[in-house]
Amino acid sequence: MSSKTKNNIVSTIEPPVELDVAAIRADFPILDQKINGHTLVYLDSAASSQKPREVINALLEHYRHNHSNIHRGLHTLAERSTEGYEKTRSHVAQFIGGVPTEEVIFTSGATESLNLLAYAWGDLNVHEGDEIVITEMEHHANIVPWFQLAQRRKAILKTIPITVCGHLDLSNLDTIITPRTKIVALCHMSNVLGTINPVAEIAEAAHKKGAIVVVDAAQSAPHTTIDVRALGADFVAFSSHKMLGPTGVGVLWGRSELLEEMPPFNTGGEMIREVRFDKITWNELPHKFEAGTPNIAGVIAFDAALSYLDKLGMYNIHHHEMEITRYAFERLSELDGLEIQGPQVVEDRGGTISFTDPVIHPHDISTFLDSHGIAIRAGHHCAQPLMRVMGKVATARASCYVYNDKSEIDALVDCLKDMRKYFGV
Ligand code: PLP
Repeated sequence: MSSKTKNNIVSTIEPPVELDVAAIRADFPILDQKINGHTLVYLDSAASSQKPREVINALLEHYRHNHSNIHRGLHTLAERSTEGYEKTRSHVAQFIGGVPTEEVIFTSGATESLNLLAYAWGDLNVHEGDEIVITEMEHHANIVPWFQLAQRRKAILKTIPITVCGHLDLSNLDTIITPRTKIVALCHMSNVLGTINPVAEIAEAAHKKGAIVVVDAAQSAPHTTIDVRALGADFVAFSSHKMLGPTGVGVLWGRSELLEEMPPFNTGGEMIREVRFDKITWNELPHKFEAGTPNIAGVIAFDAALSYLDKLGMYNIHHHEMEITRYAFERLSELDGLEIQGPQVVEDRGGTISFTDPVIHPHDISTFLDSHGIAIRAGHHCAQPLMRVMGKVATARASCYVYNDKSEIDALVDCLKDMRKYFGV
């Protein structure tokens, strides 16, 4: 039995199953090491997640026993590789809500997926004076392609502002999204604030005005159940490397009617049906958008990552991270003046916690923590416009995943306390 909660995160009415973090950690060889003499505490999964043994083995297995180029070969290895590659496509289609497999396109990452859209859909459909709407909390990957599209087509780039609490301010949505709006592109979950956005509500408003909706799910697909149709999206982009899979693999899901009418983005081998010097016809979906030799091994090993997530259950993962986030909020409040950015209500956010110290720079925080084996991220997190809105140059960001537990939050907070002593604060 399943039901939809607000923000369209699909939940079940059954109680979540607690993750066995000790068993999970044993599956991630990289975690079993000391950094600067301390047990590694990895709290940087929002940047990139670690990989379980199943994913590492799938990569090795592919190169040891099965590697060949895909689709055109008639020999056994070519068939094995093609089968593995297409198996992952079917798995992704299931993972995002049971969509047709031809609607799943493999790219090199969320960034390429969004660029593909800005060129292929954008150049075809956006004209002078049209509007593209994004939000103030976007990652550069969901800003720069639209900025460039606006420049190419003499269109206008508009933004949905954020409130002081780190939510989208939807009070003037009706005037921001207008009949001139062609695209509304927004993140499902912010990589800085952790905010989970009400995508379905915004999608409804966008569709009423005739705009398409592009969802950057790079930060949500690893952590919550994603049903692309329930989100009301027309296109969704995400990356394998943030969800236990290899780097260099991304997904673009799109409604087939829209994908059909789009011209290709990259051109070359694989994406054609017939090439003559005077005429070229395109291959069918999804191959029209997959020019050249893709990251075959990466895509095949991504299947193992999805299986790992399936085994744990996305609902259980989301619950686990909410528990850790709740605990982190409690423990971080022991540090006077430490400011956590974004929603303070755990149910409204994911497990990505950006914070600032009133005195110590985020880069110093990160360096100090690293000297004690704790990996976090510091900087603008590829969200410079958001930093400007927040009035910050940088934040420190701790982000959790399936292999983290509360003892690591203790390690983080204890180390931050030691840091303050060290800096004499
Ligand atoms: N969108 C968001 C919200 C992100 O956090 C990231 C990466 O951090 C991206 C897009 C880009 O993902 P990738 O670098 O895998 O293409």
